[in-house]
Amino acid sequence: MHRRAFLTGLVAISGAAPVWAAMDDVDPAVSSIKPALRVLLGRGQASMLGPGEFLFNGRHYRGSFSLLPNGDVVNLVDIESYLYSVVTREMPPSWPISALQAQAIAARTYVLARSNPQRAYDVVPSEIDQVYSGIESETESGRAAVSATAGDVLQLDGHFASIAYSSCCGGHTENAGDAWGGRAPVNLRGVVCGHCTDSPWYRWTRTLRLADLAVAFAAELQGEAIIGFAASDIDRSGRARAFSLQTERGVRSIPATRARARIGTRVLPSLLVHSISPPQADGTVVIEGGGLGHGVGLCQWGARGLARTNASALAILSWYFPGTTTAHE
Ligand SMILES: [Zn+2]
Repeated sequence: MHRRAFLTGLVAISGAAPVWAAMDDVDPAVSSIKPALRVLLGRGQASMLGPGEFLFNGRHYRGSFSLLPNGDVVNLVDIESYLYSVVTREMPPSWPISALQAQAIAARTYVLARSNPQRAYDVVPSEIDQVYSGIESETESGRAAVSATAGDVLQLDGHFASIAYSSCCGGHTENAGDAWGGRAPVNLRGVVCGHCTDSPWYRWTRTLRLADLAVAFAAELQGEAIIGFAASDIDRSGRARAFSLQTERGVRSIPATRARARIGTRVLPSLLVHSISPPQADGTVVIEGGGLGHGVGLCQWGARGLARTNASALAILSWYFPGTTTAHE
């Protein structure tokens, strides 16, 4: 999962009319009383293989498909079947079952809040929403986590809770308002984590060449040389909201998310930067930081850590989404 809008509200899952055709003939993957989820697969070759299964660009998918006027293929699939793939793609299937169950409930809630009948599709199958790639990507443990939590969702004030998650928070989750602007709902305002210390991303060190930074920020520098690089405007979780580039002529401030994208999201795994050294004699700066990803919402490595202390899925979710309650759809 990549970036999340603050979507709340009881939004009915939209569906396509053919789903309501003669019940004897209904595809089992889209035959629940709820209309199917619509996942945009995009351009490609699609053909039905039988009831409830089709082939798209060489991969097998559950449900059926329809075509948008522009030719894009949309997978019509019930949410539980969709989640079989999502849980495994978004969290290692070897992780403890209660962490996988927490992931399943979070992913289910996300997609229910996201579905919008006014649009041509509900979600895309990438990190922009949630990663989904059909039957080949399912695992036994992923399916078991979905089945054990079937229909369970998180609510806030009677609506689907806004959901976000990322790999490792580095010790404190991020306030969604600080990350993306606006006023964050109460369940996305950041909490102390302390459960993700086993993650290889909990702490990291990066050595960046000033010459590479000069290329990344060529537009801002306009030929001037960098003589300093620093994190600035630190938010409540410890993350930088801006970076400053110092040159002979002054200091330029660059929004942190844009700076991370320019530098590379793997080169700079998160915005939780603890220190940046002055330029070294070899033309580098050394950055020490923690975490991987935006840090908002569920810390997945933290879920793993809590699960290893026998915390239940609901205990995990109430830690990272305070104020939410569980409900059954
Ligand atoms: Zn964490």
